[in-house]
Amino acid sequence: GCQKIINKMEIQLEKHQLKKEVKLIKTGCFGLCEAGPIVIVHPEGAFYSRIKEKDVEEIVEEHLLKGKVVTHLLFKGAIDGDQVKPIDEVDFYKKQQRVALRNCGLISPEDIEEYIAFDGYKALSKVLTEMTPEEAIDEVKKSGLRGRGGGGFPTGLKWEFTAKAEGDQKYVACNADEGDPGAFMDRSVLEGDPHAIVEAMAIAGYAVGADMGYVYIRAEYPIAVARLQIAIEDARKFGLLGKSIFGTDFNFDMEIRLGAGAFVCGEETALINSIEGKRGMPRPRPPFPAHKGIWDKPTLLNNVETYANIPQIILNGAEWYSSIGTEKSKGTKVFALGGKINNTGLLEIPMGTTLREVIYEVGGGIPNGKAFKAVQTGGPSGGCIPADHLDAAIDYDNLISLGSMMGSGGMIVMDEDNCMVDIARFFLDFTVDESCGKCTPCREGTKRMLEILERITEGEGEEADLNKLESLAKTIKNTSLCGLGQTAPNPVLSTLHYFRHEYEAHVKDKK
Ligand code: SF4
Repeated sequence: GCQKIINKMEIQLEKHQLKKEVKLIKTGCFGLCEAGPIVIVHPEGAFYSRIKEKDVEEIVEEHLLKGKVVTHLLFKGAIDGDQVKPIDEVDFYKKQQRVALRNCGLISPEDIEEYIAFDGYKALSKVLTEMTPEEAIDEVKKSGLRGRGGGGFPTGLKWEFTAKAEGDQKYVACNADEGDPGAFMDRSVLEGDPHAIVEAMAIAGYAVGADMGYVYIRAEYPIAVARLQIAIEDARKFGLLGKSIFGTDFNFDMEIRLGAGAFVCGEETALINSIEGKRGMPRPRPPFPAHKGIWDKPTLLNNVETYANIPQIILNGAEWYSSIGTEKSKGTKVFALGGKINNTGLLEIPMGTTLREVIYEVGGGIPNGKAFKAVQTGGPSGGCIPADHLDAAIDYDNLISLGSMMGSGGMIVMDEDNCMVDIARFFLDFTVDESCGKCTPCREGTKRMLEILERITEGEGEEADLNKLESLAKTIKNTSLCGLGQTAPNPVLSTLHYFRHEYEAHVKDKK
């Protein structure tokens, strides 16, 4: 509904002759989806939420003309008595540290000059004029940044492998094929700050010796695609893409490739096949993309959030970045928080923040006074973590030790009313649909698992089904070709582990 509000605001600014004094900026997502559409008036930082067309006149006449904050339109957490709270003191933002999302919700994503005004392309200038490619790689290595797409592989090491790989032509690629149900981290970065990705990919190109980049993005993200296209064209006009960037001998350009909605194309080798115009099916690894990627050339592939951190690491230094987070998981992580939670939205927290802090402080707790039951992290590849582990610090290793994973950052909260067997069935249904069919364990095994789960939820299951389910799940994990099949049983295994009594109750209630 934001476009209607912008149109109305423009009419009001014109009517009151405020167009010169007030700059109206259409930004990307500011994170608190629950409260949208949001209007923020600076310099006070008054945080108006759930704004409707009819509210615009009041904001203009009271706040912009008379300087009086319209308190009844403020987000309920943005006011304390009659004091307007600055945004970073609103509960949802208090524990957050925005590195990848630094510009989202603040600048116009369609105006390169705004990005430049917020230190945009300064990191690219720094690497091209002050650093060798090896120094740039070293900085990323020292930062401790790990792949934010789910794997958690050390980013600097990946850069080094690609730089050292032999090849007359190299590529950098960006995985923007975000397909987890309930995940919208990459979409928000691309919609809110597309130049960060353009800049980071150019930096990566310089570091690994590539002169061409591809962004593989879902066609279902039309706003992200359009804004990224504008960013690429504007960067070319400003000489920040193309030949002799910043007067150096570094040339780099990039293009967009659209994905057609296959979840498996988020797997790196399937993504490469799809970029080449082939059917998006995974290839066996090795060879890894760093040696044989797009058109068999060495290719560096990172996801959107990983790239979004790069300009800040170059500008502020590896030491600054590695001072955030835990020993083995440095920096921050973006999560899409959804399900049974008061503050649905997009957040970025330092690694090491606990699940409890995210759910009760940032997320504002469970609606209608219901009890928390579990949180599912890692999308369809992840697992469900119960209330006993709410004090676990969020990092790659902790989540794996709890039978889940970081994944790309989906976080879905369940309350006492959710049936965990149904949740497992929902995610498995998704992976059965998305299995590409290339290898037998995933193609056939996930279907058999779904049949057993359906039997159980329909009251036709038997005690023996639980063991069958478990043994099938372990076989599929161990024998599937790609990450999709290797992780598809996770929601079933983790719910069997923590909520076996719910499965048993279904079996006992047999018709
Ligand atoms: Fe395809 Fe599943 Fe095998 Fe991956 S694991 S190659 S998605 S069938």
